[in-house]
Amino acid sequence: MGSKLNDDSSPSAAARGCDDEPMNAAADGVSGRTVRPRSDVGSHDADAMTSSDDDDQRSEQARRALTSASEIQVWAIRFGLLGDENRLKILLALHRAPGITVGDLAAAVGMSDNAASHALSALRVAGVVAADRDGRYRRWSIADREIHDILHAVGASHSVLHPQH
Ligand SMILES: [Zn+2]
Repeated sequence: MGSKLNDDSSPSAAARGCDDEPMNAAADGVSGRTVRPRSDVGSHDADAMTSSDDDDQRSEQARRALTSASEIQVWAIRFGLLGDENRLKILLALHRAPGITVGDLAAAVGMSDNAASHALSALRVAGVVAADRDGRYRRWSIADREIHDILHAVGASHSVLHPQH
C-alpha cells in the first residue's frame, strides 16, 4: 500500500516538475525566438548592402524614365480614350472604313447615333479623329498616327478602303 502511494505520488510530483520545466523552457524559447528575427533582419540588411550599386543604378534609370511629364500626360489621356470599349470599336471601324459617316458608323458598331456622335466628339477634341465635310455629311477618319499604330498592335486590319501604309 505504502509503496503504491509512493509510486503514485512520485510520478505525479515528477509530472508537476515536468509541467514547470517546459514553461521555463518555453520562456527561454520565446526569448530565443525574439533574438532570431533580429539576426534575420541583419542578414537582409547585408543582402541590401551587397546589391546597393545595382539598386542605385535602377533608381537612377527609373527616375530618368519620367523626364517628360507633358508626354506622360498626353499618353495617359490617349490611353484613357482607348480604354473605353465603345470608343475602341469606333476607332477600329474608322480604321477599316475611313470616310464613314456618323450614321453608318453607329450602325456598324451597334450604337445609337447620339452615342457615336458623342464618342467621336471626345476623340476629335483629343486630336485622335478628324471630320471632312462632304456636302451635308461629315466623313470621319483617324488623324493620329501613333493611335493608328496602336490599333495595328491590337489587331486592326485593313480593307480596300484603307490607304496603303
Ligand atoms: Zn492602318
